[in-house]
Amino acid sequence: MLKIDRYKAFVAYFSTHQPNPITELHYRSPFELLVAVILSAQCTDKRINQIAPALFERFPTPESLAAATVEEVFTYIRSVSYPNNKARHLVGMAKILVSEFHSIVPQGIDELQKMPGVGRKTANVISSVVFQEPAMAVDTHVFRVSHRIGLTTHAKTPLATELQLIKYLPKEVIAVAHHWLILHGRYVCVARTPKCEICPLTHFCKYFQQSNTETALQKKELAQVQKAKFLQKTRKSKQLAKGLEHYAVRSPVDDAE
Ligand code: SF4
Repeated sequence: MLKIDRYKAFVAYFSTHQPNPITELHYRSPFELLVAVILSAQCTDKRINQIAPALFERFPTPESLAAATVEEVFTYIRSVSYPNNKARHLVGMAKILVSEFHSIVPQGIDELQKMPGVGRKTANVISSVVFQEPAMAVDTHVFRVSHRIGLTTHAKTPLATELQLIKYLPKEVIAVAHHWLILHGRYVCVARTPKCEICPLTHFCKYFQQSNTETALQKKELAQVQKAKFLQKTRKSKQLAKGLEHYAVRSPVDDAE
């Protein structure tokens, strides 16, 4: 199957079955989403949704977060991964948001990345979710799933994955395709053992097609080995039977002589 056909099948399936996917992070403003996305690095959305309400209540604005101490922010986020770094990033991010962007979350990827804790992935999430820009944030799910399906080829880094995806995906679906890939990776094409048996993408998934071809070849090889063993056994049995026949025709008199 050609790569371009895989893309067509991918877009056709999800446009029909999941036309309006949304992020699973809870937020009420671009500022809250920015905080939540910074916190969600190497942590689950579920955990962030559990701790974020108290954090947002205590620090409802960029100004209040910018005025906080790292130690106080830490107490609200201690149960997420890397709480020390993230507390520092949140306060630093809020300070720049207030001083350089008038407390308004900027739209541009480069501007967003000026803030601590905001890398390319986070900037792309904000750009696509808040501003509906055709930006592709590549996290571990997007990286893995797009490779397995065959949407990317030899993409060894998140940036290479991002560039291939935005090159082939129609511009109008790039922002939602990010959610399609994340949600599919989270619930079906999971990291350790993908749930191919319930996956609706098998007819165009490269990984599935390759592993099925490999399984078929393995089965064929196994059948050949078993057949060879069987033939060998049959040959041995025949030889043994012949030997016994020869033994049986010798009479006791022959033996006495
Ligand atoms: S068929 Fe399997 S490997 Fe392919 S996308 Fe579905 S779950 Fe992932």
